Parts: sequence; structure tokens; C-alpha cells
Amino acid sequence: MEKSAYKELKEKLLTRKKNGYDLIAQEELSAMEDYCTGYKAFLDAGRTERLCAKEAVRLAEQAGYQPYTRGMTLNPGGKVYVCNRGKALMLARIGQKPLSEGIQLAAAHIDSPRLDLKPNPLYEESELAYFKTHYYGGIRKYQWVTLPLALYGVVAMKDGRKIEVNIGGEAGDPRLVITDLLPHLGAAQNKKPLAEAVPGETLNLLLGSRPIGGEDESGRVKLAVMQLLHEKYGITEDDFNSAELEAVPAVDACDIGLDRSLIGAYGHDDRVCAYAALKALLDLEEVPQKTAVCILADKEEIGSDGVTGMQSAAFDTFIEDLCAAQDVPLRACFEKSFCLSADVTAAYDPNYPDVFEKRNESYLNYGIGLCKYTGARGKSGASDADAETVAYVRRLFDEAGVIWQISELGKVDAGGGGTVAMYMANRNINTLDAGVPVLSMHAPFETVSKLDCYETYKGMKAVFQAAQ
Ligand code: MN
Ligand code: MN
Repeated sequence: MEKSAYKELKEKLLTRKKNGYDLIAQEELSAMEDYCTGYKAFLDAGRTERLCAKEAVRLAEQAGYQPYTRGMTLNPGGKVYVCNRGKALMLARIGQKPLSEGIQLAAAHIDSPRLDLKPNPLYEESELAYFKTHYYGGIRKYQWVTLPLALYGVVAMKDGRKIEVNIGGEAGDPRLVITDLLPHLGAAQNKKPLAEAVPGETLNLLLGSRPIGGEDESGRVKLAVMQLLHEKYGITEDDFNSAELEAVPAVDACDIGLDRSLIGAYGHDDRVCAYAALKALLDLEEVPQKTAVCILADKEEIGSDGVTGMQSAAFDTFIEDLCAAQDVPLRACFEKSFCLSADVTAAYDPNYPDVFEKRNESYLNYGIGLCKYTGARGKSGASDADAETVAYVRRLFDEAGVIWQISELGKVDAGGGGTVAMYMANRNINTLDAGVPVLSMHAPFETVSKLDCYETYKGMKAVFQAAQ
């Protein structure tokens, strides 16, 4: 066979995935940079699901979205949102086609792994004051010690007032920390398996050390801390019973690498896809063919249960309300709908090649990563999108010039994970997982590539703009 014919045949028949930087148009690079600047600001403004929902509402209102009220008249082009209990958000841009033709959905989540305060958190030990925590989501506990932490959340008072707490969120604020053992005395701890070396009950936040009152009194540091909290927020120890306070890393999002090609931050999972979906919806200039819906869900990291999770009827209620205005049964809308379950995937990490299967991983800079299925073992817990749905997304992305890749999450039987995909698919909505590949996923500081962030945004836009 001639050399040129061989080359031609090879190009025609074999897959050749390219690094995104060999594909992206030069003139797109500044748009990518601008997009990532907006994303970093979004991360810094929304370090908890409540703050993230608040920031998303602010951006949506800036783009002309209005709170939806039941019975509201909605015309094509209409922009509405519902904020579910301050922790989750659903937005819709009404399309030209009726809802009986289905909706184009992107569903991401805005909760991230963190340390929540227990209902009775405050105590003193050896003249130091602490908060007890209970971790939320899948964390590797050893990663959360010796980091500057901030505390955000709300204290709900019996009289209906809601007090917003922010300790360590502003420049110059004091921070909180969880201490770790010094290596000099770590010999026994060093021998423990990683998962057991830092027990959950040692993740206690150090709050203060300066006593008040006379030396014959006890619990003086605890009382001093409570006095400061009372001065700032007007709360007493009992009020912690009805509070949601979350300790998160007090570190701003920043560029990583000498070439500034990466972003390091807390909470990429899954605010990186949430921002992509939100921004893509808000940036739609023309009225989409089908109604475009963006969901920013809560509680994904603990199974999507609860009123603000993706299993909640809040979502069905919102779409049913939209459908009712057009006399369309919800089930008729769902069966024609498509959902991109927009959640992060694991990026191949050359430091840990053993857990990855190189031919089926997502790589940094190779674009938005599709996952036909997630789950564990024999695909357990996966909705496993059908081939037709994957083909549909291949077409959409290729037509829109989106750089994409398709992968699994690690080697067979190395572990696994899940997303909201199955809860959408269980509603009779064709659903496919897709999102940004992440290094150090669920760590207090995760890393993603700017190119992948931007391509994910383009992918979301392609879904919203699809005519079919
Ligand atoms: Mn996620
Ligand atoms: Mn996660």
C-alpha cells in the first residue's frame, strides 16, 4: 500500500483525539480567558450552595430573568426562575416550540464537599474553644487539616429571622483551622491506613484561646467565644440547634501553572458545570427553539435526596407549572426532553496511573468529557445512556464545534461514582453525563483546565440552542 493511501485510510477509519489547543481557534482564546475570569469571580462569590444560589440569582436578574409565580403568562422568549429554599435554582427560557416538544435541560449541582457544624457544636477542651463538625459528602479527611477555613451559613431564629454568618470570608478576617499532629509524634499515626489516620471526630475547628472572667471560673474560653458571636450576630448557644453553618477553605480561586492554563479552587465540583450551564442560558441571544432549562441542584454530594435535591418534586412542580400554562401534560413534555447531566469527571492524573485505564479516561485540555455511564462495579447505580442519546450529543457538539471526549471514571472495579443523571433518566428524560475533567476531585483545592471549562460552556449552549 502506498504511503499516502495508508495515511488517508488511517485518517478515515481510526479515531484521532487531539489536544484541545491543537483544535481551538486562536481568536477564541481571549473569549476563553474572559469566560474563566467570570468563573473565578463566581466561585469566590459562592463558596456554599446558598451563596452560590444567591450569586446565580443576581446574575440571572441582571440578564432579565424574573421570579416565576404560578399562573404567570409566559410567551416565547420569557425568562423566569424559581429559587428553591435559597439553596437550589431552576431557570427557564421559554422556547418558540410548545412544551409538548420537550425541553432542553442542563442539570448541575452547587453543593460541594465540606464540614458542617453539628447541632451542638461549641465546646471547650484544655482551655481552647472548638466547633464539632460532621463532614458532608465524600471527603478524604486527612486533606482538611492545617488549612485556613471560613465559616458560612445561616442561623434560623425561632422568630423567623435568618441571620447570615460569614467568618473568615473577607480580607483581614480571622480564619479557623483544624490542627494536625506534628511529625515528631506522628509515628503511630503514620502506620495507619490513610482513611483512618484522621478520624471524623477529630475534625474540630479551633475557635479561640483567650479566657475571660476570673481564674477560678471554668469554660472561660467557650464563654468568650460565645460572647463574640453574640456581639456580632445576636445569637446564643441554643441557636446553633437551628443553624446551617459550613466550614470551607478560605482560599480564592487562582490561575495555576506558569502558562496560567489551569484554575485551582475549592468547589469546582460542580460549580464549574453550574456556571457553564447558567452562563450558557443567560447568554442565549435568540429565543431558543425548545424551552431551555438550567437546574442548579443541592444535595448531590449526599445522594440528591431532600427537598432541594434532584430527587425532589420541586423540579417536577416547576416544569408542570410551565406545562400547565400551555395545557401540556408533564409526562408528554418529559418523554420528548433531553438532559445533559452536567457534572465533573475525573481527569487522568499521571501521578496515579494505576487507577486509570488510559484508553478510556478524560484528559485535561481535551474538552468536555462525556460519560455514557457512571456507577460502580457492573455499572451499578448508572442510568447508562442509550447509544442513540450519545449519538445525538455527538452530532450536537460536532455541529457546534465543541471540543469533547468520552470516558469512564477510572479502571473497572477501581471505585466509581454517581451524578444526578439517573434521577433525570428515571423521569423518562433522555439523559447523558457530561462535564469538566478535574484533578484532585473533592479535595479542598481542585484543579481544572480553562479550555475544558470553556468547551463545557459551549457544549451547554449547543444543548440549549438545539432545534431537535
Ligand atoms: Mn459532582
Ligand atoms: Mn462530587
